[in-house]
Amino acid sequence: MRLIDLSEAKGQIRIEFGGCNMKCPYCVHIHQPVKEWEVAEVVKYASKSTTENVYLGGAEPTLQKDLLPLIEELHRMGKHVILKSNGMKPDVLESAFPLVNGFVLEIKTANDDINGIMELTGMSEERSMKYVSLLKESLSIAKRKWLRVWIRVIPEYVNAVTMPRILPEIECASEVMLYQFMSNPEFDDPFMGHNKPTPSWTEMKELGEMVAKTVPLVRIVGERGQILLQQ
Ligand code: SF4
Repeated sequence: MRLIDLSEAKGQIRIEFGGCNMKCPYCVHIHQPVKEWEVAEVVKYASKSTTENVYLGGAEPTLQKDLLPLIEELHRMGKHVILKSNGMKPDVLESAFPLVNGFVLEIKTANDDINGIMELTGMSEERSMKYVSLLKESLSIAKRKWLRVWIRVIPEYVNAVTMPRILPEIECASEVMLYQFMSNPEFDDPFMGHNKPTPSWTEMKELGEMVAKTVPLVRIVGERGQILLQQ
């Protein structure tokens, strides 16, 4: 399997995979070097740790052909596994469902904004339309378990006007994380002329308050750390 990183910090083993089926122009992960690991090596790393929590993230984990054998092994070890995805592979989420404890799904913008999705993902119109239906399928699978919806707030696409159109898609979430674009250089490359944290922290809080009306927990993450809003 192709890994960007395998590490442990803050009570979590993080297995970050390389490669993605999107080409988001602000994504740092798709340019990061990858290294081949055998499933057995990753399992050995996890088995040596007493840490229960394992996060499968990176770029896009669901593209790894050995993902399910790895999850089976982690499950057998009694690990608490969270699987992140962009939602393009609901079949993989369904297969992983009995073996994981929850999902993190990325949402880019409102599903009716196909032009916006094309700009944000680097995908064709046809593929962007297909993505919308695959994402809906992924959300309907993931919401049956614990689901965090992860939204990178890029102000041209996620704002007080688009959020009411995004909300019906995400009200099924256990929690929503709103991430302030460019607030962590490890996550983002500059995009749309934004090269510092944006939108403002005040706008982030206003968006969070909108989401908190329909989702039990909202995490706002950015230049000022993290704040939690609960229903
Ligand atoms: S931002 Fe997410 S979906 Fe986009 S290329 Fe990076 S890992 Fe893939």
